[in-house]
Amino acid sequence: SEETSHISTERPKQTFADVGGMDAVKEEIRLKIIYPLQHAEMYRAYGKKIGGGILLYGPPGCGKTHLARATAGEVQASFISVSLDDILDMYIGNSEKNLAAIFEQARRQKPCVLFFDEVDALGANRTDLRKSGNRTLINQFLAELDGMDSDNDGLLILGATNAPWHLDNAFRRAGRFDRVIFVAPPDEAAREAILQLQLQGKPIEKIDYTSLARRATDYSGADLKAIVDLAVEQKLQEALRKGVPQPLTTSDLKAALGKHKPTTREW
Ligand code: ATP
Repeated sequence: SEETSHISTERPKQTFADVGGMDAVKEEIRLKIIYPLQHAEMYRAYGKKIGGGILLYGPPGCGKTHLARATAGEVQASFISVSLDDILDMYIGNSEKNLAAIFEQARRQKPCVLFFDEVDALGANRTDLRKSGNRTLINQFLAELDGMDSDNDGLLILGATNAPWHLDNAFRRAGRFDRVIFVAPPDEAAREAILQLQLQGKPIEKIDYTSLARRATDYSGADLKAIVDLAVEQKLQEALRKGVPQPLTTSDLKAALGKHKPTTREW
């Protein structure tokens, strides 16, 4: 059929090299979805089932979306990022149609990483009205995940959630979201790597990444990005006033750190 969705397909340039930290998570994605994609015949020869999705869970802003996009870039696959608003529709039957259109689009663009944000809300196991209570939508999502024959070969399905316990158990069966990976807030080494990535290509003056990372306890990847953005903004204003580029310094970043609260403390 000729379903179309309004979501754009990306061709990400980012790879795992652009994701700071998360070594264990990257390795798990390699084993579970990248190798099977690249060596499908080998897996079949040994009778290993391929397919199935990975559920990423953890606090907001710690890189789930970023990692999913980088997974696509890593294998030169296309990437479709789906949020709740791309699917849910108040008219009966439309949410199911939207979901079908998205899977069709992904299957047409294989290999493709299909990423569902807030997946728990689509497959919620309780009746929270706007977000769920919709058994037909859940059933259709399950059927799409199962696929027919080799429909889903070359389709890499990732889901993100802050609340995996809200997800209906049926989603966790074999061949569906049968792996759950915790994406933790970045540790000190990961924070250092993220700061380096975020400052890459910008005018800087020997930055003390170690001391910044140590100070940035409980800051998520998104927080660190916000800090760099803040420092850059201030420096740019200064450069404009002075008429010459001003390199970013450790103290600029420390000042920015003081203006932005960390968001992962409660995890
Ligand atoms: P949410 O749960 O809110 O969707 P998330 O975990 O998906 O959050 P992202 O949206 O991926 O978080 O992260 C926000 C931004 O923070 C990214 O666009 C990226 O620039 C930066 N970022 C987060 N984590 C990392 C990381 N590990 N390495 C490099 N950049 C990161």
